[in-house]
Amino acid sequence: MKFVYFFGAGKAEGDGSMKEVLGGKGAGLAEMTRIGLPVPAGFTISTECCDYYLKHDLKYPQSLHAEVIKNLKQLEKTTKKTLGDAKDPLLVSVRSGSARSMPGMMETILNLGLNSKSVEGLAHKTKNERFAWDAYRRFVQMYSSVVIGLPKEELEAKLREMKTRHSVKDDSKVPAEGWHELVAAYKDYFNTKTGNAFPEDPEEQLWGAIGAVFSSWNAEKAITYRRVEHITGLLGTAVNVVQMVFGNNGDNSGTGVCFTRDPSTGEKVFYGDFLINAQGEDVVAGIRTPMHLNELAKRMPKVYKQLEKSRQLLEKHYRDMQDMEFTVEEGTLYMLQTRTGKRTPTATFKIAVDMAKEGLISRDEAIERIKPEDIDRLFYPIVDPSTSKADLAKSKVAEGINAVPGAAFGKAVFTAEEAESMARNGEKVILIRRETSPEDVGGMFVAQGILTATGGKTSHAAVVARGWGKCCIVGCEQLDVDYGSKLARANGKTIYQGDWVTLDGNEGIAYLGQIKLVTPELPPAFSILMGWADSTRKLHVRANADTSHDAVKSREMGAEGIGLVRTEHMFFKDFDFPEKSIERQLAIQEMIIADSPEARKKALDQLLPYQRRDFVGIFKAMDGFPVTIRLIDPPLHEFVPHEIQQQRELAEKLGVNVNVIQRRVEQLHEANPMLGHRGCRLAITYPEILEMQVRAIVEAALECKKKGIKVTPEIMVPLVMDKKELQILTDRINKVAHQVFSEAKAKLEYMVGTMIEIPRAALLADEIAEVAEFFSFGTNDLTQMGMGLSRDDAGRFLPEYVDEKKAGIFASDPFQTLDVHGVGLLIRWAIEKGRSVRPKLEIGICGEHGGDAESVKFCHEVGMDYVSASPFRVPIARLAAAQAVIEERAEKKASGKKKAK
Ligand code: ADP
Ligand code: MG
Ligand code: MG
Repeated sequence: MKFVYFFGAGKAEGDGSMKEVLGGKGAGLAEMTRIGLPVPAGFTISTECCDYYLKHDLKYPQSLHAEVIKNLKQLEKTTKKTLGDAKDPLLVSVRSGSARSMPGMMETILNLGLNSKSVEGLAHKTKNERFAWDAYRRFVQMYSSVVIGLPKEELEAKLREMKTRHSVKDDSKVPAEGWHELVAAYKDYFNTKTGNAFPEDPEEQLWGAIGAVFSSWNAEKAITYRRVEHITGLLGTAVNVVQMVFGNNGDNSGTGVCFTRDPSTGEKVFYGDFLINAQGEDVVAGIRTPMHLNELAKRMPKVYKQLEKSRQLLEKHYRDMQDMEFTVEEGTLYMLQTRTGKRTPTATFKIAVDMAKEGLISRDEAIERIKPEDIDRLFYPIVDPSTSKADLAKSKVAEGINAVPGAAFGKAVFTAEEAESMARNGEKVILIRRETSPEDVGGMFVAQGILTATGGKTSHAAVVARGWGKCCIVGCEQLDVDYGSKLARANGKTIYQGDWVTLDGNEGIAYLGQIKLVTPELPPAFSILMGWADSTRKLHVRANADTSHDAVKSREMGAEGIGLVRTEHMFFKDFDFPEKSIERQLAIQEMIIADSPEARKKALDQLLPYQRRDFVGIFKAMDGFPVTIRLIDPPLHEFVPHEIQQQRELAEKLGVNVNVIQRRVEQLHEANPMLGHRGCRLAITYPEILEMQVRAIVEAALECKKKGIKVTPEIMVPLVMDKKELQILTDRINKVAHQVFSEAKAKLEYMVGTMIEIPRAALLADEIAEVAEFFSFGTNDLTQMGMGLSRDDAGRFLPEYVDEKKAGIFASDPFQTLDVHGVGLLIRWAIEKGRSVRPKLEIGICGEHGGDAESVKFCHEVGMDYVSASPFRVPIARLAAAQAVIEERAEKKASGKKKAK
């Protein structure tokens, strides 16, 4: 088996398609080499080797040694330098890199190959002793902490001691002897701690570094990152051994990070940060605040031009926005990394739309590039624009770089651990740090927002937060963070731990206190892309909405009707006049307590005008679109009080003895209410409820029709299990409707249909379709009953069922993503049977799953007419429905090709 892949001098054994084996970094280096970009030579040891190493008790495969040595010789030949040479030594970096980007989570060691001989060679060759010894101390420090695991703080302390001795503050002012002394101090420390001398042999160093990089795959921070990012199924990290180039050998050198387009707005402008006379991590670590690329263009015009050329080449080549690392050594540019750049949701839409318009990608590809989370994140809040400027000025603490837009508030906290523990107690926190490092990801993940005193838009904090769409401000230099006293000061104000802080990531401003936040306007690229999706998809998308307010919202979100109005919500609350809610509750309670049909009718008569008004509001908002209204569904006990105090109050209001109430509540008690007297079973035993609801629906529809509003009510009977059951209720519904028609001397079209949510109904769908004019899959109940899982109780064991590391029985929570394999069969069967009787049977879904992208794709596949989702998930459903069409086309094409062969 081949484990090592060489790249250099314009040729590479690997290429950009080999991410799984070479990792993203290795694949990128190979590809950049192939397309003629200036990349230092090197070789990549595969992720397969890492897998072997981790599975075999940290032992390398047998053939590896010879392969590495062979590649090392080739590297020496290509670079015309030798590892450990006393005159002009080859130095290498040993870098991690897995198939999915995990910024800064694993280890990298720079300047490997330095020892007491080669450091003199480097000094001689560069005529810069100070530089050579600076490089050496960096290497000894990295090697000691990364490979051996010596504590970073101790090593840092020795650096500080030395600086104090030489009375210098800045690293760049340390004289050559200072670095000499530090190397000696590190080596002593190494000796005492390990009992061995610091390795002189470059090959020994190399093997130590390779093992450390492989092992860093299982470092705690890397595991945490994979968990929060849901990264699974990878073999491990690759190791890239790359010739070192130096950005820290004078003012004609430097290092930088850039994006082919602006990662926060998506605009087609070259975006990046550069540090003069700096090496490697300096930009990413955010310790010094870097200069913008415009400045680089002025200072090093030739380099800038070359960089701009790489930018264009790489974007054309990868057909996506790239995030690149580069180093300039004495005026020569080297590309060190390229990967698909993380971006904000706004930028995601803008870049996809722009690239399609530029012809770089197709519209289908643009649609395919959007993920459901990208849509979710578009709705992240911003500071309410109507907040007074004076109020804002008063609360403002500090201003920094707006690294990731959005706004958030939370309680200030200064360490990742405390962020995690406060978040566990349900508190919202804002994590404030001087800078963040990969150890902090757990705390960053739970924080509402992140604020750092240093760093640019390409710093660790910014990159990680951007990946999560989490509001983030960096480079807030006025901020003086004091970890010891748990506070931060700026501009005469102090933020103490636990104080409320608001971050405005759009402007890059931090405020004390909680500032009002609102949801932003959607960017233009969003509507363009959604327009493309709408013209691609075949499924219609409706919304689940119970109020006129939700109905209006649904239209804004692009819903083409309502797939579920839950009428029982109207018994609890008056959404238009909240103060009238009590009257409604009382009426329904009176109905439930009533002991004769007449008394029940009397109580229901009070509810009628309320329900009618609710329906009028919804019909108005949905002018021209279908509205599916479900008759009462929950068991009656949910409407009556169970506490004695409230029972007494109710008794008093209704003028009955409290015993009457208590007896009724006892009567209503069920051992298993989910499978009890609910849904259409209520309408079978209490026809008056159905009659009132149907009357309210039809009267409201007629009233709207008179006003010129186009209404098509679809009356939906829940929890049906038998044809005869539905027949009885349909007859009752029609009877009431016709009665209303003759009273009003008017008519209108309406449909009567049923939910399919009991497995028996799905199995007997052909019989049921003889009566029902439409089906709507209630997949919450269908999942509960199909799998025998109670949604409310499954939390005790279901997590273990979906955890890959534990039982891993299901790939995802069946209440979130439809169990296509099992419950899906009931749906397929019911559709086939239903349409065999009634070919034009309208079919939709109204469970939670209607807003889940994967489930929507299934709904498309089985030929539903529409999905219905909660208003905010409507755009996700629209997008997923379009992606379903695109993926189906691609599959057909692929299988067509196969057949042709
Ligand atoms: P990460 O995956 O954390 O980005 P990298 O492997 O890219 O880690 O390396 C960390 C830093 O060291 C980067 O800034 C990179 O540019 C720099 N670096 C890595 N290899 C070299 C090299 N051969 N010459 C100069 N700088 C390097
Ligand atoms: Mg990197
Ligand atoms: Mg149900």
